[in-house]
Amino acid sequence: MTLLSPRFKRIQSVLNCRMANLTVLLEQVNKPHNLSAIMRTCDAVGTLDVHVVSDENRPPTFNSTAQGSQKWVRLHPHCDITNAVQSLKKQGFQLYGTNLDVNARDYRDCDFCGPTAFVLGAEKWGLSEIATKLMDESIFIPMRGMVQSLNVSVATSTLLFEALRQRKIAGLIPNKGEGLSQNLYKKLLFEWTYPKVAAVCIKNGAKYPEISETGEIL
Ligand code: SAM
Repeated sequence: MTLLSPRFKRIQSVLNCRMANLTVLLEQVNKPHNLSAIMRTCDAVGTLDVHVVSDENRPPTFNSTAQGSQKWVRLHPHCDITNAVQSLKKQGFQLYGTNLDVNARDYRDCDFCGPTAFVLGAEKWGLSEIATKLMDESIFIPMRGMVQSLNVSVATSTLLFEALRQRKIAGLIPNKGEGLSQNLYKKLLFEWTYPKVAAVCIKNGAKYPEISETGEIL
């Protein structure tokens, strides 16, 4: 019998806790340090996917703040906010737009145990009017200081950890891979363990080889 390599064990334990039903949609959040901090928080919480809408004509960039988390959290670019919202709604997500408006609800009064997408806006302007109209609910994090708003990565972190807290109380935190479909779990386990082989398979349109319980390619 071969012993599991510590890295393979680590990959399995992280995938076991990933949640496909908790996500973030970022509208025009383009600063690399903010995007990096958000990816790092998503990795820590167990968020599988982050969605982005950006007018910038270049792929999103990260800095050292990300600590490599961009390898472990999938980033999905969308061409515009309407498409992004429709796609998430089709997948059954409830969309919570962040808004500093008086009509928004205190985030602590909402239930984030179901499929939840937090929608956050640009560093300077906040969420667009179009985005705000498309939301299922507008939420805010109460502020008690002189400054009107939080940094966008801090707001994302606050909301994601509140969702995690609520799910923990409800006994809904996955720990055996139940947060992902079996096929997705298997696919990610291979891609995370053998990224170079996975890239070759994708390039050649080939299926990923099977791997053993201890992580060797069969
Ligand atoms: N002037 C902008 C506005 O009115 O929305 C401020 C933008 S803020 C720096 C950037 C983003 O962080 C916001 O679009 C929102 O997503 C999030 N954010 C910041 N403070 C927040 C708060 N107190 N509650 C909820 N979201 C917040």
